[in-house]
Amino acid sequence: MHVGAAGGGLVRRAGRRNSGLAPETGAARTRRARAIARRLARRYPHPEIPLHHSSPFQLLIATILSAQSTDAQVNLVTPGLFQRYRTPADFANARREELEQAIHSTGFFRAKTRAIQNASRMLVERFGGEVPRTLEELVQLDGVGRKTANVVLCKFGVPGIVVDTHVRRLSRRMALTAHDDPDKIEQDLMAVIPRADWCAFSLRLIYFGREVCDARRPQCPSCQVRDLCPSARYGGFPPWMAAHRAGRNGRAGRAGAGLARAAGPASGRIAGRASGRIGRGLTAERRPRGVPSGASGRRER
Ligand code: SF4
Repeated sequence: MHVGAAGGGLVRRAGRRNSGLAPETGAARTRRARAIARRLARRYPHPEIPLHHSSPFQLLIATILSAQSTDAQVNLVTPGLFQRYRTPADFANARREELEQAIHSTGFFRAKTRAIQNASRMLVERFGGEVPRTLEELVQLDGVGRKTANVVLCKFGVPGIVVDTHVRRLSRRMALTAHDDPDKIEQDLMAVIPRADWCAFSLRLIYFGREVCDARRPQCPSCQVRDLCPSARYGGFPPWMAAHRAGRNGRAGRAGAGLARAAGPASGRIAGRASGRIGRGLTAERRPRGVPSGASGRRER
């Protein structure tokens, strides 16, 4: 992939909209993004999906469970869960209360149970009990948005950018996107990272976000990509993300409020039924119930 006119335009917009961020040509940003990708590849040569699974279906279920939970918590639950329920039909026909009990510790268990059973029913009824291999089909499943769909597609060897909470934060800090909306971030990263590297690059950002570029304590002084990251000079808290931070803290000005609205309550079929918001999925940081995720209003983030 390459940055075309759209990519260059986005870069110029980034320079205008985000104070403190110098304009950068599309070509320069692509070069920088790929240099970052190479460094991360040296640090994480063979990144693995952090959710334990042994089939695309198990990965689908685990990713649904990981919304507003931690991967470690999900990995504690899934061995017993997958021993008890093996197929989409097993999940679809499970007693709701039993399934709720089995996944209780991952949080939002009622909404997740509903999503898992609805998705499993749809797999049985529409897809012959198999997990489909296209994004268009996957996002028809309850509880599945682009992020979960791309995780599953990666399992099938189909390239996709997975925008979870870490990818979202790091791509903004690294100024690889001017956007806050996960779908737009996905497009921006697709434009600068070679297609074959989309899955691995996403996973590397996720691991790097956990280990180095932490949400609250980014380790800029010792960071391997600090010379390629415009946020290094701001200690990881650049001014172009300030409106977003203010919005999430309820102190947004007009622009921040707009961002907050865009981030807004998670709305879709899972989150809309949950008592709070369940939105972030793979590798999300745990949040207390009712605390806005700050993610987009789409159903899983
Ligand atoms: S320099 Fe700081 S903000 Fe940039 S990637 Fe490294 S830790 Fe994150």
